[in-house]
Amino acid sequence: MDGRIRCSVSNCHYWKQDNMCGASQIMVTSDTLAQAKPDSFDAPQASVASPTPAARCEETCCKTFVKKGSDKTHMDNVQRM
Ligand code: SF4
Repeated sequence: MDGRIRCSVSNCHYWKQDNMCGASQIMVTSDTLAQAKPDSFDAPQASVASPTPAARCEETCCKTFVKKGSDKTHMDNVQRM
């Protein structure tokens, strides 16, 4: 995934210089699903997630975000590349 996902959320554990996402995989979903599911529900479980249509980009988010320095960096089973 490195080099294909551009992201400006610079305080994310997976963020890299020049606004690159360095996560092995990410899950983009609706804000509603992101708020309903625990941190452990992420890209590795995406194949079993119900589709979540959105009307506007403002209704979507990156569920893989983990705050840099957080103790939750290994809860989602996503790797930093
Ligand atoms: S995991 Fe999401 S929030 Fe974090 S750098 Fe990648 S795209 Fe951005």
